[in-house]
Amino acid sequence: MTLSYVLASYASDPLRSRGRRLYEEDAPTRNDYQRDRDRIVHSSAFRRLVYKTQVFLNHEGDLFRTRLTHSLEVAQLARSMARALHLHEDLVEAMALAHDLGHTPFGHAGQEALNACMESFGGFEHNLQSLRVVDFLEERYASFDGLNLTYETREGILKHCSLPHARQLEAMEPGGVGQRFILREQPSLEAQLCNLSDEIAYNAHDIDDGVRSGLLSMDQLQGVPLVAHYSQETLKKYPHVKDRRWLFETIRMMLSDQVYDVIGNTQEALKAANITNSLEVKRHPMLVKFSEPMQLASLELKGFLSQNLYRHSRVQKTTEQAKEMIRDLFLAYTHDPKEMPQAYQNREDKERAVADYIAGMTDRFAAKEHQRLGGTTRWNEA
Ligand code: MG
Repeated sequence: MTLSYVLASYASDPLRSRGRRLYEEDAPTRNDYQRDRDRIVHSSAFRRLVYKTQVFLNHEGDLFRTRLTHSLEVAQLARSMARALHLHEDLVEAMALAHDLGHTPFGHAGQEALNACMESFGGFEHNLQSLRVVDFLEERYASFDGLNLTYETREGILKHCSLPHARQLEAMEPGGVGQRFILREQPSLEAQLCNLSDEIAYNAHDIDDGVRSGLLSMDQLQGVPLVAHYSQETLKKYPHVKDRRWLFETIRMMLSDQVYDVIGNTQEALKAANITNSLEVKRHPMLVKFSEPMQLASLELKGFLSQNLYRHSRVQKTTEQAKEMIRDLFLAYTHDPKEMPQAYQNREDKERAVADYIAGMTDRFAAKEHQRLGGTTRWNEA
C-alpha cells in the first residue's frame, strides 16, 4: 500500500485543466478543482439540497436520505475509489456534490412533471439544469453569473444530455461540454467514477430507507441475490445479529465489495487498454465499471427497487400529488410572472424562467407556494 498520493498519468490534472469560461487568477494555496468544490459547497443550490426529496418526501421522516445526504454519500464513495485509482479526489468530490444541484423538488416526480410542462419550450432535464445552476443561476459573484467552474467539473456535472440539447450547448459554447455527446466520446475517469458512485450509493441507501419506511422487508430482500448473499454472509459471521444491525452490516459488506470490484475491474481495464493519458480515456469505451457478475447483480437490485420501492403504491400516491403541485405552480407563474421574484419575472424566456424558479425550490417551499397561490392539492403530512 502506498502512503503518498500520486496522481496517475490518466487522471485529470488541474495543471492541464481546460480552464474556466472566464479567466481568473490562480488561488495561492488551492488547486482549481478544490476551488470548484469549495464554490459548490458555498452555493445556495447546495444548501437547498437538504430540503429536497431523494425518494421519500422530506417531511416523511428525519432519517431518510435527502438530496444532500445522498450527494455526500456519492462523494464519499467517489473519493474513496479515486484515491485507490490515483485519480483526482477533489475533482470527483466537486462533481459528486454538484451532480444533483439541478433536481426539482419532489424527486423524479417533480422532474417528470416539469419536463411535461416544458414540452413545447425545450423540455427539462435535471442534468442540464445542474449545469445551468453552476453556469448561470447562482448569484454569488460581483462580476459574473454562476460559479465559473472549470471545464472538467462542468463535464462531470453534465452526466447525460440528449442530442438536441448537446447541439444547443455546442452552438453556445463550441468545443465545450456538449461536444462529447455529439462525438460519442466518454468523459474523464473522474466523471465515470462519479456516475457509478451515484448508482452504488442510491442502490444501497434505498434498501436502507426502504426497510426503514416499512415498504421493504428483510424477508423480501432475500429474493434479491446480491442482498441475500451479503445478508447470509453477515449471519455466518455474526449468528446473533438481527434487525437494523443485520441490515446495516449487510449493506456495509455489499458496499465494500462493490467498491473493491470497481477498483479492481477498472485497474484491469486501464491496463488491458494500455491507457496512458486522459485523452485516450475519452476515445475508449467506458473504463470505470463493475465486473460483469457484479454488473448483473447490481442491475437485478435496481430492477427490484424500481418494482417494489419506487413504484410502491405509497410512493406512487405522493408522486401523483407532487406532479399536480408542479403543474399548478407552472400554470400559476406563467399566467402571472409577477408572482415570482423580480429577477425571474423580468426575463424574456418566460417559460424557462418559470422552470428555473420551480426547479430551484425545496419541497417545503414549493408546497408553501402552492398553498399561497390557491392550490387545492391535499398534501399528506406524515
Ligand atoms: Mg444522484
